[in-house]
Amino acid sequence: MKLDTPENTAPDDAANRKSIAPVICYPPETLPPVPLDLYRAARATAQKVDEVLIPARDAKCFSVPAGQFFRISSVEGPQVGDLNLWSANDVRERFYSGKTRALHGTHVSTGDRLWTSFPHMRPMATITADTLDWYGFDAFGGSVHDVIGTRCDPYTNNLLSGGQYHHCCHSNLTRALAEHLGRSCDEVESHVHDVLNVFMCTGFTRDTGQYFMKASPVRPGDYLEFFAEIDLLGGLSACPGGDCSSEHSSDTAACYPLLVEVFAPEEGSLPGWVSPQRNGYDQSHGV
Ligand SMILES: [Zn+2]
Repeated sequence: MKLDTPENTAPDDAANRKSIAPVICYPPETLPPVPLDLYRAARATAQKVDEVLIPARDAKCFSVPAGQFFRISSVEGPQVGDLNLWSANDVRERFYSGKTRALHGTHVSTGDRLWTSFPHMRPMATITADTLDWYGFDAFGGSVHDVIGTRCDPYTNNLLSGGQYHHCCHSNLTRALAEHLGRSCDEVESHVHDVLNVFMCTGFTRDTGQYFMKASPVRPGDYLEFFAEIDLLGGLSACPGGDCSSEHSSDTAACYPLLVEVFAPEEGSLPGWVSPQRNGYDQSHGV
């Protein structure tokens, strides 16, 4: 824990140093533009081709070919989902929560992209609809769909509370990926990664900078929709925290399923669109 009071006296020019205005680390203006109008025109032609119901306190995998859409919906009751995404062709290329945060901020919504890990670092999905975009930031600094959390996991739970809880999102995603790939949990566990916290309402406390959660504003019928930029394998866990209003890593909270639906647009409805190539850096690292 940090000390309650600093051990060092502030220098004379502390106020000046602290008053310097921040600059945005990664101004997004030079990123490739997001053709939302093109995506939406294609979406208007799309038909549902698949659906997967994620049971409460469990996870399942789903596949979305490049150029199709997938929607995550709240059904039955307020529920948070922990989303992992991999390249369907190579699970070593996966969602990079930290870089997505650096580019788009702590919480994502319509028009933001989800980026893949090095050395690929390309858009893997683009958010095309978000029925919770009205929420913005609340008075506590909270917002929805964060890329600041990691996922609830049995290791942190063991550290903080002891015991062996097996339905944290980390374990749910591990079991789902193992089943999908036909491999053991031990073989696939390292492919489970920091998530997009779908529908979760989170932030950092203003006074201590601590990660907080509060009851999700999501209600049945709300959804978050994505355009698949590359062939995707998804994993979604219906978090044991339910709406994450009080606790996770237990069976205490009321939990509900989540619905994943996949939509395929008509042939020829994405004129000029091509799946992004991997990053242009030559990977020689100055050698
Ligand atoms: Zn969770």
